[in-house]
Amino acid sequence: MNLSYWEIKTWFSEVDFTIIGSGIVGLSAALYLKKRFSNAKILVLEKGFLPQGASTKNAGFACFGSLSEIIDDLNTHTEDDVLNLIKKRVNGLHLLRETLGDEAINYQNLGGYELFTKNNEALYDLCQEKQQYINKLLKPIFKTDVFSFKGNNFNFKNIQPKYAFNKFEGQIDTGKMMEALLQKASSLGIKIINNCTVEAFIEDRNSVKVKTNLVEFSTSKLLIATNGFASGLINEPVKPARAQVLITKPIDDLHIKGTFHLDRGYYYFRNINNRILFGGGRNLDFRAEETTKFEQTELIQNKLEELLSTTILPDINFEIDNRWSGIMGVGTQKKAIVKPISNNVFCGIRLGGMGVAIGSSVGKDLADLIA
Ligand SMILES: Cc1cc2nc3c(=O)[nH]c(=O)nc-3n(C[C@H](O)[C@H](O)[C@H](O)COP(=O)(O)OP(=O)(O)OC[C@H]3O[C@@H](n4cnc5c(N)ncnc54)[C@H](O)[C@@H]3O)c2cc1C
Repeated sequence: MNLSYWEIKTWFSEVDFTIIGSGIVGLSAALYLKKRFSNAKILVLEKGFLPQGASTKNAGFACFGSLSEIIDDLNTHTEDDVLNLIKKRVNGLHLLRETLGDEAINYQNLGGYELFTKNNEALYDLCQEKQQYINKLLKPIFKTDVFSFKGNNFNFKNIQPKYAFNKFEGQIDTGKMMEALLQKASSLGIKIINNCTVEAFIEDRNSVKVKTNLVEFSTSKLLIATNGFASGLINEPVKPARAQVLITKPIDDLHIKGTFHLDRGYYYFRNINNRILFGGGRNLDFRAEETTKFEQTELIQNKLEELLSTTILPDINFEIDNRWSGIMGVGTQKKAIVKPISNNVFCGIRLGGMGVAIGSSVGKDLADLIA
């Protein structure tokens, strides 16, 4: 397609910053670049008709780690690393709330719960045993105890008698958050182009040539925020990890409120508009879920339904309204990769299952890489 003089002049010439990906990271990076360089021309290129990775698909937990997750992280990371990651998640959530406002993202501090399955008494015992130690470890950040144990007052079945409660955990409306980010970016004159897939880029001395399915153009700096899809453009240690979700139809007088982690965090559910949103089950077949294909599998969806009827909503009639999947970017280290790739190309990727929490600060850190 030949572009007109106007199209080229308005959108594709003298571009200062091009960001690939309109997820939380790409849009946050665009906002912080605009703050620092108010006259800059900033383009965000997005392959989907909407943002199409994880940012519009997630569960909306505003969380920084369940008790078993933190204990598990301490097996593979130092205390300092674990504390730094928790700080990053807490600070990232503050930044997200400060940038968009609690009302715009419907932030609610309903607390977070970790449920332990009946057949995993060992983990239940371990978490009770380590509760005080973890609370002490987190004191410098929260100034008070984070984790306590509570009785099963939501009447879940097939779980241990108490669950771990975290009073600092909250939840957001993921759709509202992304809508607010998109609106804020547009209102500041950031140009977002959808259905535009970046296929390749070549770096010159002072600029980068970007080849997309629609157009080729030059940009001064290129920022890659494609998370689970990053390996299509750059060679960094990040792999796709699909996460499947379902949501029930509204349930009369739904008594369950909060965010819930089940079976070492392999499953997670929450209330939203009198429904239960429920996801997880990647551990049933990690291999098959290492993909960028937006599909659901019978294996995982059946397991989600089974757990809904046996554990989460045992005495309640429910119907499934909708199912979907999203693609995360993961690696062996639970740490985002935010770094220059070359003089004019930068990346902010590998957010794992933590992007609601750290996405804003990863976006800011990515923008701050630009001198
Ligand atoms: C089901 C699910 C539940 C989750 N739950 C939570 C949760 O409760 N709490 C939490 O903190 N985190 C959660 N996460 C993780 C969180 O959603 C992600 O970490 C976060 O959204 C990542 O944001 P991002 O901007 O890095 O990536 P993405 O949102 O994936 O954005 C990358 C964008 O790049 C685009 N793109 C890719 N390649 C190209 C290309 N070549 N050209 C143009 N565009 C391209 C994609 O279409 C996509 O829109 C969950 C994730 C999933 C999938």
